[in-house]
Amino acid sequence: MQLTIDPDIEDMTTSLMRFIEREVIPIEEANKALLADDRSLFDATGRYVPEVLALRRKVRMRSAELGFYTLFGAADLGGSEMGARASTHIQETLYRRYGPARTLIQTVVLPSPFTNGLTPVLRALPPRTLARYREGIASGDKTLCFALSEPDAGSDVMAMKTRAVREGDAWVITGTKQWITNAPYADYAMVFAVTDAQQAAKRKGGITGFLVDMRTPGVAAPSVVRVMGHLGGETGTFTLDKVRVADDHRLGAVDQGLAVAIGGVSAGRLGLAAMSLGLAQWALDLALGYAKVRKTFGVPIAQHQAIQFMLADSAMDIYAAKAMLQKCSLRIDHQQDVVAEISMVKAFCTEMVGRVMDRCIQIHGGMGLTNELRLEEGMRLARQTRIPDGTGEIQRRTIALQMLAGKLDL
Ligand SMILES: Cc1cc2nc3c(=O)[nH]c(=O)nc-3n(C[C@H](O)[C@H](O)[C@H](O)COP(=O)(O)OP(=O)(O)OC[C@H]3O[C@@H](n4cnc5c(N)ncnc54)[C@H](O)[C@@H]3O)c2cc1C
Repeated sequence: MQLTIDPDIEDMTTSLMRFIEREVIPIEEANKALLADDRSLFDATGRYVPEVLALRRKVRMRSAELGFYTLFGAADLGGSEMGARASTHIQETLYRRYGPARTLIQTVVLPSPFTNGLTPVLRALPPRTLARYREGIASGDKTLCFALSEPDAGSDVMAMKTRAVREGDAWVITGTKQWITNAPYADYAMVFAVTDAQQAAKRKGGITGFLVDMRTPGVAAPSVVRVMGHLGGETGTFTLDKVRVADDHRLGAVDQGLAVAIGGVSAGRLGLAAMSLGLAQWALDLALGYAKVRKTFGVPIAQHQAIQFMLADSAMDIYAAKAMLQKCSLRIDHQQDVVAEISMVKAFCTEMVGRVMDRCIQIHGGMGLTNELRLEEGMRLARQTRIPDGTGEIQRRTIALQMLAGKLDL
């Protein structure tokens, strides 16, 4: 197994960056006043204002037209299936170059790994149903959200209260989903609900997934959940009140939905790890540059050993994270079992970026706290990565359980 990046992955990364520089950055520049500040990005309810949604749609659809938006979709969904190495390399590069998420770049030119776009979860749909929705999703015209979590069920997903009851050839779903990325804007939701309470209580299945059109009577997305100091955002709550969904919109076998969901979440864990790695490198690039030019006591601060140690500690962190991520991605591309490894990589990379970001702010002194350099925004984003797709504690639980079951060969 080679740890070098294949030339076709490098070429694809270069093409994507060229597209962003040529077509997306000019749109950003032309709309600087609108995009630069949360006060113009969001309305009073915390949703993106219509002009921002229109720009995001324009970029998304152009990215799809050029074939970037579907790069990581499975081949049987009509995607390019470039694999884990490619997806982690591209995510890392995007965050290293552009820093904390930019409104028209990271989750727009490429969809989030499993919550939107040609997500692997869609493979669980019956082929005829998939055929109805595929083109709209692949073209970026329609967007998705992935609804597993609830107010009382996050780490403990089996505690979910949303119920789906069979009525003839349909299911009737009732419940509340919370923390759902893209829920305020999505056209469709992948909803997971209890279909057999006894099995779910015994933690032996009993959960089924469904593709739900967000315009179906009974669906409402009443609120945006604002996180980490933002005035609005992409995460929201939505409710389902006796929502009828045809049985041919079921995601996989009845009562076996958790396996479908977890398959998606694993892709998300890897994506957050790659994002953390890129973000850490973005911050260290800034800190290294600043340490060479900022002078105190007559010399650049890079000559003070305390600063050198912070740079070196960050380099060690990044090197270790990168090695872990590359090895794990390679093993995924070789269809190897990586349950524990994905958890190790997710926990390590998302915790690593917090340490690196903190040191890089420290190296910048007062400048590190200004909004201008966006390090404080990077710090907020870094902190967020430790919660979604399984907290650090849940990753450690998985690692330990795999180890105790003899499934982790270090
Ligand atoms: C920005 C953001 C986006 C999100 N996007 C989505 C999405 O698109 N779709 C979706 O379905 N969900 C989404 N989530 C939800 C996310 O997956 C959950 O927040 C996460 O799994 C944690 O669940 P919780 O918030 O209920 O915390 P809890 O499960 O209540 O955990 C609280 C604390 O207890 C700890 N804990 C829990 N159980 C154990 C244990 N057994 N051992 C040790 N410690 C434990 C946790 O680690 C944590 O520190 C998102 C969350 C955020 C913040």
